[in-house]
Amino acid sequence: MKKDEIKRMVLTAIEANGERIKALGDELLHSPETAFKETKSSAIIKRELTDLGLSCRESLAITGLRSDLRSGREGPTVAVMGELDAIRLPSHPFADKITGAAHACGHHAQGTAMIGAAIGLTASGVIDQLAGNIAFIAVPAEEAQPTAYYKDFLQKKLIRATSGKAQLILEGVFDDVDIAMLSHLSTEHGIPAGYNGLQPREFTFHGKAAHAGLAPENGVNALSMLRCAMSMIDAQRENQNPADYIRIHGVITEGGLAENIIPDKAVLSLLIRAKSLDALEKALAMTERCAKGAALAFGGKVDITGNPGYLPMIQSETLADIHRKNLAAIEPEISLIEIPYRGSSTDMGDISSILPAFHPHNAGAEGTPHENSFIIKDPEAAYVTSAKLLAMNIIDLLYGNAEVGCSLAREKTVLTREEYHQRWDGEVS
Ligand SMILES: [Zn+2]
Ligand SMILES: [Zn+2]
Repeated sequence: MKKDEIKRMVLTAIEANGERIKALGDELLHSPETAFKETKSSAIIKRELTDLGLSCRESLAITGLRSDLRSGREGPTVAVMGELDAIRLPSHPFADKITGAAHACGHHAQGTAMIGAAIGLTASGVIDQLAGNIAFIAVPAEEAQPTAYYKDFLQKKLIRATSGKAQLILEGVFDDVDIAMLSHLSTEHGIPAGYNGLQPREFTFHGKAAHAGLAPENGVNALSMLRCAMSMIDAQRENQNPADYIRIHGVITEGGLAENIIPDKAVLSLLIRAKSLDALEKALAMTERCAKGAALAFGGKVDITGNPGYLPMIQSETLADIHRKNLAAIEPEISLIEIPYRGSSTDMGDISSILPAFHPHNAGAEGTPHENSFIIKDPEAAYVTSAKLLAMNIIDLLYGNAEVGCSLAREKTVLTREEYHQRWDGEVS
């Protein structure tokens, strides 16, 4: 069978199930849950995959799922992902009244598009025309939550990483995956040039408490150490290369308990972002030098904790080309925006560091993500078109003997899987 014919059959199957796909989008929109608590969304996705005759591996990174559609012929495994989590935004029009969770980043459209693609590829009966496997993976916890949010999960050893994709990698869920993609809801079709990596660091400065009026000479001021560390970090911003996209930002989460006591403890919580691992590591080393230098200068001490965070997101150019052509074929009147490099971060970066990965934007929403204004404007585009694009991209990778997928799977990555695991084995805290 010719590739165009297969594509037409899959598109027809998705269109025939358009109402079902849009109803699923609506159901997930009204089941918003935050990181690692996405039990309702996970159950809905499981129900849909089971309906398609696919068996599910469950409880991956707590709420994640994976189902494989196998062609029966040898070839690469392509993962299609759907992020499960919402953010906390109680004022959003579709927020959960009790938890305040809302799909203000449109992740519900990702799971919907993933299922839509699965419907197209199963209902059309074309799987035996492809080679390799398709792994549908529902992924928890993309959105960063406050540090305290994860404490319980970490203490109970339910997770090691606070991001869902990192946790899935650590659990081995991507061990046999060669290529991965998802489709993120947006206001327009676009391909971001990439995303920054990010690492959190918490600096706890220790000094000595003393009466600030009666005997300040007995004290060592931890808050002053923190202020000096911040000044030194700020003073070195002029030495950063703009091409590295370094962002260092944070909050003081503890700065003393009373005005009349010299603070013996102060805590600075920073996020450090950059475009490459090298730049990220240099920026991290700089912040740590500043913190240690400030503590040394005051005769105090600083404890530094953190974790490997999110790695920089590298878009696969091969997948971007495939995607551009498929969008032009499906929606010839719509133009795709080439989105400049983003200073923000996604845990898709972790996936992209160990295998070719792709994170495009799909139209269908209006407003601004993480704001009350971010809602579905065009369900057909948000849910159905995004499903079509994922399915078309998969067909291009796995058609025939999966020549395109095989050659992409051989591309060199930033890290080997062993190196990825080593980063977590040698984590800071
Ligand atoms: Zn978001
Ligand atoms: Zn998002």
